Amino acid sequence: MGLLLAMVLATATAAAAAQPACGADALGTSRTLTLKREAAAWGAQHAALPTLAPGEIVLSFDDGPRPESTPRVLKALADQCVKASFFMNGEPMRQHAALARQVRDAGHSVGMHGFRHEHFPQLSSAAQLADLDAMVATYRAALGSEPAAYRFPFLEETPTLLTALRERGLTVMSVDAGAEDWLPDQTPQMLADKLMGQLAKSGGGIVLLHDAQDQTAAALPFLLQALKAKGYRVVHLRWE
Ligand SMILES: [Zn+2]
Repeated sequence: MGLLLAMVLATATAAAAAQPACGADALGTSRTLTLKREAAAWGAQHAALPTLAPGEIVLSFDDGPRPESTPRVLKALADQCVKASFFMNGEPMRQHAALARQVRDAGHSVGMHGFRHEHFPQLSSAAQLADLDAMVATYRAALGSEPAAYRFPFLEETPTLLTALRERGLTVMSVDAGAEDWLPDQTPQMLADKLMGQLAKSGGGIVLLHDAQDQTAAALPFLLQALKAKGYRVVHLRWE
């Protein structure tokens, strides 16, 4: 075998190992949308994500990382060559920092979702700000980088935290559609029906799911197939 041919083969093999083979029947990731690191707010509570066309969706997963379910979500996404955003809580992120890094190293975006999953409107301003400080510190410790985005637990936004996030240049991420996958005993078909119904109304946008839910991890291959069948195109959200 000539040296050049051997090098070509070695390069091709390395590329194949790094990139899962996804056929035409895979959902895939159609494009990447890179946002500025700035104080902004997107999703139904605020404004539509810029440049998102009808039928384009951003997949996001909240409440992890959780060893029992997050790896199954990563596997389902990798099998379909889909990149998503994970909004992690600080407590599990601190406890499972290696899993948080695994999510990032798989090419997904990581945002924040509150150190504890609190109802912030019921807390004092000082307690809200302490939770944000703990969340940011945990993110830095786990990932060694600066966070760019935040999603409120229960989507319960407060003036105190909205001001603090704006002052820190952090983007607020709301949602446009979901599957209500926090409800108990949801079958894959029930979750798919709910998600398709909400997406039919929103026309696309930011999709909220929960990688901390076993039923969501189990249903995800089916949900991704359903999105593909309906012609939705996945956009990978990143921050510069
Ligand atoms: Zn949550």
